[in-house]
Amino acid sequence: MGWRFDDTYARLPERLFVEVKPARVREPKVSVLNHGLAGELGLDLDSVSPEAAAAVFAGQEFPAGARPIAQAYAGHQFGHFTMLGDGRAILLGEHRAPSGRLVDVQFKGSGRTRFSRGGDGRAALGPMLREYIVSEAIAALGIPTTRSLAVVTTGEPVYRETIRRGAILTRVAASHLRVGTFQFAAALGEDHILKALADYAIDRHYPEAADAPAKYLGFLRAVADRQAALIARWQHIGFIHGVMNTDNMAISGETIDYGPFAFMNAYDPATVFSSIDRQGRYAYGNQPAIAQWNLARLAESLLPLLDPDQEKAVAIATEVLEEFASRFEAYWLAGMRTKLGLRTDEAADAELVQSLLTWMHESGADWTNTFRELSAEDLPAGDPYQDPGFRDWHARWLERLGREGRPRAEVADLMRSVNPAVIPRNHRVEEALAAAEERDDLSPLRDLLAALASPYEDRPELARYQQPPEDERGYRTFCGT
Ligand code: AMP
Ligand code: MG
Repeated sequence: MGWRFDDTYARLPERLFVEVKPARVREPKVSVLNHGLAGELGLDLDSVSPEAAAAVFAGQEFPAGARPIAQAYAGHQFGHFTMLGDGRAILLGEHRAPSGRLVDVQFKGSGRTRFSRGGDGRAALGPMLREYIVSEAIAALGIPTTRSLAVVTTGEPVYRETIRRGAILTRVAASHLRVGTFQFAAALGEDHILKALADYAIDRHYPEAADAPAKYLGFLRAVADRQAALIARWQHIGFIHGVMNTDNMAISGETIDYGPFAFMNAYDPATVFSSIDRQGRYAYGNQPAIAQWNLARLAESLLPLLDPDQEKAVAIATEVLEEFASRFEAYWLAGMRTKLGLRTDEAADAELVQSLLTWMHESGADWTNTFRELSAEDLPAGDPYQDPGFRDWHARWLERLGREGRPRAEVADLMRSVNPAVIPRNHRVEEALAAAEERDDLSPLRDLLAALASPYEDRPELARYQQPPEDERGYRTFCGT
């Protein structure tokens, strides 16, 4: 197939992982294969039979050089500290792509590990396809994310509220280092392990920090910066992660661990879909503050490396954390300017953006469609845009664009390059999953994946994916564990 495997993580101190083999499964069968991603990774899927591909992606046969492990980590789940670890995931190892890039290859749903606690280590087909759909959609939107290479069914039942079909997702990631991995290492209380982990993360994701004078502080600052940029991107497209526990925040700056995520339709900062998030901790509008909270947990974990004098360490870490809000704000505003077709900065821009958002909130405007419709060259048609509040704002915006003096067509092109025509609408995702799970019909899934693959392009076949749902009250997403 073309694997070039390495086991760099498995050479770290052994407290950080356990060796484990994926479970035997009865009848592995391919559900989806990601040929595009395979190509980028230098893997030739066409040269193997469907049966052979199923055996590989069900973990029944390993590539040479693979040394499967479950990673240990801790995490704050809804604010409560817990020792976790891969309870239903197995890291096969790292693959070296032709570009030179090293990526983790991980199975999700491949059986119990020492960290499974009460769980069965398995996954159901629906949630694995859900992660596949959205991670590919987020990638196509140009936002850093883990990817999905394959989903195979196992031919075995998994027992949830109902009996579901078992499945395994093959996930590809820059790495699976999490904020929670550092919390785990810090909780061990052995500084040499923490240091080995930090050096590994720097080497793998932030090599530019390696030779800097305050190396670990530079690392913390760089992680915070990537998170500020990432969360800003989520906000720009209306993505709600749903379960931003510290174990679900990647050190690499990729979006990771798609559970009860959903996309916002009508703009409302309080939007939350996850069935387990009763307090709205991970609501759309809270995501930046939660990211900062999670980074504070990373900073705490790194204290012993920042300065031998704890008070000094706390002081410098606090400084980095305080910078986060303004960094996020800068990324967010820059992106919002582009969403409005602006290339220059004016002091009143923040207010111009805010007043659009206030109008959208009050009128229940759809996040995605409003920005896409604004990208048209003329004042958008449609009832909501006849509202005097909107017309007022629109006149101010045109005036602002007028000061930049660029042709309207060029502005429209810029706007269409950042305001997607299509996102994975929750009801369309559910529809595709139901067909796959209940009727073994993968064609709605394939059509949806094709629509989401070029989200900034107008195509007539997109129409059915652009409509927000009639009524979304009561829509809930589940972790699928
Ligand atoms: P998640 O909510 O998917 O991020 O999972 C939180 C933790 O629970 C992780 O450590 C998972 O490995 C573990 N976990 C989730 N589902 C299962 C399962 N079915 N069996 C064992 N562990 C699980
Ligand atoms: Mg997780």
